Amino acid sequence: MEVLLLDVPTIRPHRLSVATMHHQTLVLLRLFSSDGIVGWGEATTIGGLAYGGESPESIKINIDTYIAPLLLGRDASQIALLMALVAKNVQGNRFAKCALETALCDAQAQRLGVPLSALFGGRVRDSLPVAWTLASGDTVRDIAEAEKMLDLRRHNIFKLKIGLRPVREDVAHVAAIKRALGERASVRVDVNQAWSETDAVLGMALLHDAGVDLVEQPIAARNHEGLRQLRAKNKLPLMADEALHGPLDAMALARLHAVDVFAVKITQSGGLTGAQQVAAIATAAHIDLYGGTMLEGAIGTMASAQLFAGFQALAWGTELFGPLLLTEEILQAPLVYQDFCLQLPTAPGLGIALDEERLDFLRRDKKAAAVFAMQ
Ligand SMILES: [Mg+2]
Repeated sequence: MEVLLLDVPTIRPHRLSVATMHHQTLVLLRLFSSDGIVGWGEATTIGGLAYGGESPESIKINIDTYIAPLLLGRDASQIALLMALVAKNVQGNRFAKCALETALCDAQAQRLGVPLSALFGGRVRDSLPVAWTLASGDTVRDIAEAEKMLDLRRHNIFKLKIGLRPVREDVAHVAAIKRALGERASVRVDVNQAWSETDAVLGMALLHDAGVDLVEQPIAARNHEGLRQLRAKNKLPLMADEALHGPLDAMALARLHAVDVFAVKITQSGGLTGAQQVAAIATAAHIDLYGGTMLEGAIGTMASAQLFAGFQALAWGTELFGPLLLTEEILQAPLVYQDFCLQLPTAPGLGIALDEERLDFLRRDKKAAAVFAMQ
């Protein structure tokens, strides 16, 4: 097993309430099996430790030091057994576990000659609607970016990152964008936990009047009761994101009827199986589904897509646009985004082929070695 850290600049600053990203560090796991099959997984996260408890560097060192030695020499086709072994020996580390499970599933699906989605029950769709995030922080620039995406027929769902400015200022920014786009697009907001409960009561009422369709994680992730109260007080549909770290959180939120929608993420769920369980709980509790992202590159994006393609209902689409935010392509043939959707390949496994030269060029360790050699 090998973990690669790739530092890739973003096409523009990506402003969240917790951090502003100028580059993304892709965390890729390459798994070699003795039958010659290579599986890929991804554990990319957002904003370093400002967003969550795992950093690219901690993910790499924990896989290298603790997880890889557990698996060396074992049967890579026994995915459930291996993941149970890791669960028993490693607490937390959801992102690292997701990368591992994805790589094992990619390898196994290749071995069987089927798309990865077949390991999770197959597909009900071969393409997924994909939202775009407007996060420049500048209203005019955001409207121009949205218009361009509509013209290209690449996105007609827009998620706005807010929460840095006072509530009324943020809502004015969102309302101006919704006015400009009208019924041609769905406009939603993600507050990334930045609001207090009183901010959220005001903000959600104003956003509803502005024609916004959905608000994502307005208040602190651990405040499940607050989410429940907000949902009871407001008409605007409410989505849980950071509150949702796998099936146990899904069950707790479902019991409380705290939200209308779950943003399912394979990394936050600790892997594909965990994410499928989150979706099952949502379905049983009549909670809608949305396919979330941690702004992964092509591997995590396609792994998510392969799973989401099997969800019986996906009422709010997905935000699987991660690779489009990056300046560098790491695949031999890029993922296909057209007609407002990501198209799924039918080739075995993840169905993608990595560009080894680009990987080598972008690897942090090789860059560091090159700089050292120049000195
Ligand atoms: Mg979010």
